[in-house]
Parts: sequence; C-alpha cells; structure tokens
Amino acid sequence: MIVGIDDTDSDKGMCTTYLGALLLEELQAYGTVEALPLLVRLNPTIPYKTRGNAAVALKLKTDCPEKVISHVVSRIEELARMECEKTNPGAVFILEKDYESLKPVLGRFLKEAVRDVIEIRKAKSLISEYGIPSQGFKNGRGLIGSLAACGAMLNLEEWDHTFEHLAYRQKEKWGTPREVEKESFFEADRETYPETWDTVDLTNNLVVCVPHSADPVLFGIRGDNPEIVTKAACMIRAEPVERFVVYRTNQGTDMHLLCAANISEIRNMHSYRLEGTVSAVPKTIPGGHVIFPIRDEGGDEIDCAAFEPTKNFRVLVRKLIPGDRVILSGSVSSGTLNIEKIEIKTLVLLHTEENPKCPVCKKHMKSAGQGQGFRCKKCGTQASSKLICEVERDLKAGLYDVPPCARRHLSKPLVREKLSGVRVFPSR
Ligand code: ATP
Repeated sequence: MIVGIDDTDSDKGMCTTYLGALLLEELQAYGTVEALPLLVRLNPTIPYKTRGNAAVALKLKTDCPEKVISHVVSRIEELARMECEKTNPGAVFILEKDYESLKPVLGRFLKEAVRDVIEIRKAKSLISEYGIPSQGFKNGRGLIGSLAACGAMLNLEEWDHTFEHLAYRQKEKWGTPREVEKESFFEADRETYPETWDTVDLTNNLVVCVPHSADPVLFGIRGDNPEIVTKAACMIRAEPVERFVVYRTNQGTDMHLLCAANISEIRNMHSYRLEGTVSAVPKTIPGGHVIFPIRDEGGDEIDCAAFEPTKNFRVLVRKLIPGDRVILSGSVSSGTLNIEKIEIKTLVLLHTEENPKCPVCKKHMKSAGQGQGFRCKKCGTQASSKLICEVERDLKAGLYDVPPCARRHLSKPLVREKLSGVRVFPSR
C-alpha cells in the first residue's frame, strides 16, 4: 500500500518529513518498505504552507493495511501541531488493488498540486468518488498534499527526480541553536559537487543546507543519487544525529513551471517560463529589490523582480537594458514575477559616436566648423563624419540562476541543466 501524509507541522516545530522518517521505521512492524520514501514539493506560492510546501509518501508491502492505517492516524494525532491554526493534517492510503485505476487520476492531481491551486473540496470529492481510505484532521487541507504524494509514488517514471539525505536532531535539542562545524560542509561540497548542490553558497560564504527554524531537521544534502548524498552527509561534523532518511524528491526539477505563451495568460500563485523583451531600465527600490518590466509581442507587460535575498544576482539584473531579449523562470505573486532563473537570449547593441582619428598621428581630429567635417590641425588630414563605435556590454548571453542561498526547492539549479547550445553560468 501507499501512505501519503501532509500538513503536520507549524512554524514552532515538527516537520512532515520527520514523521515520514519515524513511520518508515515503525511501519516495518506491519510489512516491508518497497521503495525509497518520497518528499514531494507542491506549489511554492500556496499561502497555507509552513515553509517549503512538502508532502511525503511511503510504499509498503503489507497484509494488514488496517493496522497501518490506525498506526499512521494515531501517530499524526500524537505528533502533529494541531494547536496551530494553519496545521490541518491529512493522510491517504492507497491499497495495492487500486494502484492501476488510481495511477492516472492521481498523476493528474499531482501535476495540478505542483502547478495550480486546488480546493479542499476537490480532494474530498475525489476521495469519496474512488472510495480511498483517508483521514483528514481539522479542515483536512493536508489531504491535498497527501493525495499528490501518493500520485507521485504511483507515477515514478513520469517526473524528473533528485535525492535528499535528511538528518534529524535528537529531540532534546529541538528549538536550540544547531551545533554544526561549518567547514565540514565546505569539505563535503568540494568532494561531491557537482553531483551534490546547494550544500553551501561559495559566493556568499554560507552553509545553506542547515535550517534555522525550530523543526527537527539538522541538515539536508541534495544530489543526483542516494550514494552521493550519503557520502557527503557522512563528511559532516555536527551534534549527534537521531536518525536520517534518503528521500527521492522532485526538488531541483522545475516541475512547478508552466510555459506561458504570453503575459495575458499569467495568473498569481502560478510559476512560469516566459519570454519577453526588457521594456525599461531596472530600478532598485527600497529594501534593495531590483524590478524591471518585460513586454511580450502583444504589448502586454509584467514586472519582474530580483528580490534582496537573491544577493549578487541583482548585480547581473541591473545590467539589463530596454530591448534585451530574455526568458525568465519564476513564480508570480501580487502581479510580479519573482525571478529564479534568467536566460539572456540577445543583448541590444549599444553605440557611441566619436570624432574620427587622424590616420597619420592617430589622435582624434577636431571639428573643422559647422558642416565642414573634421580636420587634424597638425597633419592636415580630413574626414567628413563621426565614427560610430560599438560599446561592449558587460553582460553575456546565456543562462543564469539565483545563488544557492536564494534557491526555491523546486527550482532546477544550473548545475543540473543539460541544454545543448546555451551557455550556462551557474551561480558559484
Ligand atoms: P509540512 O512539513 O507540515 O508539510 P509545509 O511547509 O510543507 O509543512 P504544509 O504545512 O504542508 O506546508 O502546508 C501546505 C498546505 O497546503 C497543505 O495542507 C497542503 O495540502 C496544501 N497544498 C499543497 N499544495 C496545494 C495546492 N496546489 N493547492 C492548494 N493547497 C495545497
């Protein structure tokens, strides 16, 4: 059977991936684990999320599904932060006999949960239409993520994936500052990059894989395969680890991006890949955010932002000028596209005019009077018009991303890009 769980944490503690790690061990009393557990990131713009909008799915071979269901439900009751208004847990159970019939339905639901906004009643009516065993708590919003995570497990071949090794803290340490040796993350990165990524941010000299919130995660190492993330994790020197899990995940895959043919089809709370032309000089607004509009063929415009947390990425964005052709990836909120990645397709050519040079002494000639061209007084040479010179742009066409410290979970880092013909400039 497949177990999907979601929405158990609050900003004061817990984490659905930690409950997943506990269940992975505990459910072995009722059967055998059949696949790597899944950590599925859903629509990053959803306002109900606590942090990264994650849901978890586990796959188990069991002949006592009833016992699995009651165990999962009782562990959610014990561990979920029900006191928090935003915590509305859900658990969904897919029995093996229903795998085939539910595979396409939940595959579509997964895509919708990653790219779109779903009403709770849609999840509930799907559950009742197909008779899916489930348990919602409070308003049951977590049923949305739980169904989506089950859809991911049923359709593993349908989506690009990466892996994350998540290490969890001992319970008595929760809420206290994490004791980690910073240098060990840089060492692990040197040894395993580019097969692992976003462990550290070299440009900003930051460890980015250690959270700062009260949740049980000590660190998470992301990478191409289970072996490499575990190799890097083993190099970390830190406080004792209570347990760890390697999750298969859709992080770093760009699964959230829709292709927008034009700006008029763009909606808030959705994420896009969108081509357009820079239509005004980027402005830096209070707070250090850099904003500029792009225009599509139909003349529609949208504001695009490199927010302050994107750090040095803003330096690049400030170099754009009207007429530059770009493809942007990012999420749209309040009518502004929050840039995760930029492909600069073509740069406008800039020109300046200067007085012609004397072919003899190589110095610039002087004007010989209105309408009389230019003359070198010393050598007596003449020229009729000014020279038009191309100004070199301090920017190159190619693909750029925000630094690791500003990366969205779903955003594909350039180190994973295997595009032919596009120059790639990873942000490290
Ligand atoms: P947790 O560790 O508890 O999973 P989180 O940061 O991942 O923390 P949640 O607490 O799960 O965030 O909150 C997200 C809520 O939004 C969940 O109830 C989930 O079911 C719901 N949700 C996820 N994707 C969508 C979507 N596309 N449309 C509507 N609701 C969604």
